[in-house]
Amino acid sequence: MKKVQFRSFIVLIISGVLIFGLIIYLCRYISQGDSWVSFPVNKHMYTNGVLTSGEIYDVNGVRLAGMDGDKRVYAEKKAVRVATLHAVGDKSGNISTAAQTKFSYLLTDYSLINGAYSLTGRGNSLYLTLDSSLCVTAYDALDGRNGTVALYNYKTGDILCMVSTPSFDPANPPKIGDGSGKYVGVYMNRFLSTAYTPGSVFKLVTSAAAIENIDNLGEWKFKCTGKYTIDGKVITCTEKHGTQDIYASLANSCNGAFAKLSQELGAAAISKYAKRAGLTQPLSFNGIDCASGSIRTDASSADLAWAAIGQDKDLVNPAAMLTFVGGIANGGVAVKPNLIAEVRTPLGLPMLRRFRSDGDRMFKKSTADELAKMMRNNVEENYGEERFKGMKLCAKSGTAELDDGTDHAWFVGFSQREDFPVAFVVVVEHGGSGNSVAGGIAGTVLTKAMGEL
Ligand SMILES: [Zn+2]
Repeated sequence: MKKVQFRSFIVLIISGVLIFGLIIYLCRYISQGDSWVSFPVNKHMYTNGVLTSGEIYDVNGVRLAGMDGDKRVYAEKKAVRVATLHAVGDKSGNISTAAQTKFSYLLTDYSLINGAYSLTGRGNSLYLTLDSSLCVTAYDALDGRNGTVALYNYKTGDILCMVSTPSFDPANPPKIGDGSGKYVGVYMNRFLSTAYTPGSVFKLVTSAAAIENIDNLGEWKFKCTGKYTIDGKVITCTEKHGTQDIYASLANSCNGAFAKLSQELGAAAISKYAKRAGLTQPLSFNGIDCASGSIRTDASSADLAWAAIGQDKDLVNPAAMLTFVGGIANGGVAVKPNLIAEVRTPLGLPMLRRFRSDGDRMFKKSTADELAKMMRNNVEENYGEERFKGMKLCAKSGTAELDDGTDHAWFVGFSQREDFPVAFVVVVEHGGSGNSVAGGIAGTVLTKAMGEL
């Protein structure tokens, strides 16, 4: 009798484990079935590594990718195809962060009831937040130079423009390894997957730390003689800026002033504010993991000064930078970017999923507002209000010095207009002056964007 009881008990345990496993499987099937079915080994869904289902549109309904029979086709106009390549993807699935690859689980019209079988054979329609005509303007403004331009709504997170160069026409892909070096890193979306030396745009982080940690910052003064010496090492400035307050120091981008601030603040504060600005951990949105930035704060005092200026070993990802300046614009709350406006099933019904995310507080509102005032002053006193007419623009330029003697040009900022809550980032690799080169591109794209809103 005891033996029977023991065996029944074992059977009961095995059944329990089995049922428990089944429940877990079912839960995962319901929550992750769309990801399983869009896995690239699924022969029903892919031909030569490219998903053969679903349509991709921009926010205005311009078709960016779709199916022509069993063939993947792209936008009608070549300029649109080239400017949206990194957002949409190519025929061979080489761009890992592109919608075609990253959002493949939304492009199949997989359902729990029908499985991978498509009733219409069309798949879902994915509407991106991008305005493809704005992407074309940005691509043209980059004018053959490598880099990235992105604009986003700092209240909702929606990305309006995201361009990475070099690019190519996905309808007629070129031979990438043609020996010219023209297509180096072409499959990488520079906005998402690169980290560049930031140069003076990083002074915004040092400024945030100064606002919250230096008493009477309004009374703070620095006399620039063109160089500032720390432990026998010289921090050079572009010119003798003379005596300046914190506002003038940022507007003139005075290296000496920020070197002095770094010594008053210390390594721990610089490191803490870079982290709070979201620049030293990878930004992640819509399931896309961006490149991580980094700064070195455990070296010498002179190295710390260069780190606070945005040089030394500093690296910053453009998407993280955009989110940081968006956070300044949004009163200290940084809203993560978002690329997905909506998804519609083949029957035209919207998919009930939430793609936008709430913001996270980086700094106190008063800190963000003070930073915004300083960035507004940069435009009024240095960059030129007439270049950004009517935009209420707040900005910071960066001319990041590289070991090869060239400079990456950066220009970042936002509009303070209630009806135009847009932040932007422009990076031109080896582009020269941040203010004139990257600032010029920002002006062109922002003018077009404001005209459309
Ligand atoms: Zn100076």
